[in-house]
Amino acid sequence: REKHYQMMIRARIPGGVLPAAAYLQFDRLAEEYGNKTMRITTRQTFQLHGVLKGDLKKTIAGINEVLITTLGGCGDQVRNILMCSAPHRSLFHQALRRDLLALVDELSAKTNAYHEIWLDGEKWQPDNRAAEEPLYGKTYLPRKFKLALAVEGDNCVDVYANDLGIVAHRDGETVAGYSLLVGGGMGRTAAIADTFPRMADPLTFVTPDQLIETCREIVKIQRDFGNRADRRYSRFKYLLHERGLAWFRDELSARLGRPLVAPRELTWEQTSDHLGFYPEENGRFALGIYVQNGRIHDTDRMKLRTVLREIMETYAPEVHLTCDQNLILSGLTEEQGEAIKALLLDAGVPLAEQLSNVVRYAMACPALPTCGLATAESERMLPDVLKEIDQLLAQLGLQNEVMSVRMTGCSNGCARPYIGDIGFVGRTIGKYDLFLGGDFNGARMNALYQELLPITQAVDTLRPLLLHYKAGRKSAERFGDYCHRVGFEALRAGTLAEAKD
Ligand code: SF4
Repeated sequence: REKHYQMMIRARIPGGVLPAAAYLQFDRLAEEYGNKTMRITTRQTFQLHGVLKGDLKKTIAGINEVLITTLGGCGDQVRNILMCSAPHRSLFHQALRRDLLALVDELSAKTNAYHEIWLDGEKWQPDNRAAEEPLYGKTYLPRKFKLALAVEGDNCVDVYANDLGIVAHRDGETVAGYSLLVGGGMGRTAAIADTFPRMADPLTFVTPDQLIETCREIVKIQRDFGNRADRRYSRFKYLLHERGLAWFRDELSARLGRPLVAPRELTWEQTSDHLGFYPEENGRFALGIYVQNGRIHDTDRMKLRTVLREIMETYAPEVHLTCDQNLILSGLTEEQGEAIKALLLDAGVPLAEQLSNVVRYAMACPALPTCGLATAESERMLPDVLKEIDQLLAQLGLQNEVMSVRMTGCSNGCARPYIGDIGFVGRTIGKYDLFLGGDFNGARMNALYQELLPITQAVDTLRPLLLHYKAGRKSAERFGDYCHRVGFEALRAGTLAEAKD
């Protein structure tokens, strides 16, 4: 008898946008084949956990029935491409969406094997598909490759954490062009000192008509030069680290047959989670709903999955999954929005504005028991840690401060812990590396403050640091910025003189 192997299935949903009917299909599949929960990931898609091997085909076919694929959800290829999740309808945003979908089309695998294996089992060779993978060839990429498309001024996609970050510049209602950033990535191996998270470097500016070609050539350089001998060093960031940005510029320029234009300077005015109730450009309204750690499920006190199903069936909104593992309902009338808020409250689901800042902006990866790479708890641990941090902040009169707390169950960093104000990276059961000093806008990495911190000591470790912050901060200075400015030496010594410059 074969063992009951359990799988995780991750879809690919460009920019995280899907209709209510597709949402309901994921809900049904989670009920029939999964563990009766749906997980919104940090890359704007759904993953279903606990799918038995024998149900894989039915689940994948069910996802394809609503015109969503799982091809590119995992694997050594371009993964789900992120885009600002705000449900904007302007001509500018429509142009961005078109460019996003064109990128997805260009950079996706064209294999027919997926359809043969997971759908009808027939050999399939439509006329418009090449017999060979035009981008990936026979060997695909050395590792996964992540892209994100941000809109200048709002880094809600954590653009620097991606292999290829794209920042759209606006000129009225048109897209002036894009700044491209290369070589970001969060993963590291804790026990190997020369593996590291890295922020993407600004590379070049391209006009909209140059975007697709330039991105394709960037992916091809990683395909041709990336490390295929050791997977621990095979992400694109190691290629850039080893060969340097100057080499990369020359290589890309030679492939494109034109010199590269300098990227535009980037400034980040905000990093919005796009939650709450607000008007859209078209007279409709959007409601952004907080989903703790992206887990859509029912508990004794909160019937989130049930109420969301009811909302989808009744109002059929467009759904936008966010990069913070939340979801936005778009295209509502004002009355519908008010009715949905009442439904959520009845179901025990808090509205975003009722949450503390620490809870609202926190993220955890799944980790135990569903991630095979986890060495520590994350999703099941973070809510308790946040409660304690919340209490601590209230005791210190800092409860209104905005800060991001991120936790992962291993050093791979799926919840992007290396760019939070506070990052907990699981090493072993109950022990975490504590990172401090990132900025809320995701434009600076934090740094390792303490290794192997028992999580039971998290609050006692943070208390003196937060006191230091309270006493020494400049007006409106955030905790991560403060830690970065004064430095860990001053924080450890508790010397406020240094802290105040
Ligand atoms: Fe990612 Fe590690 Fe968390 Fe698994 S445990 S989801 S690999 S960060």
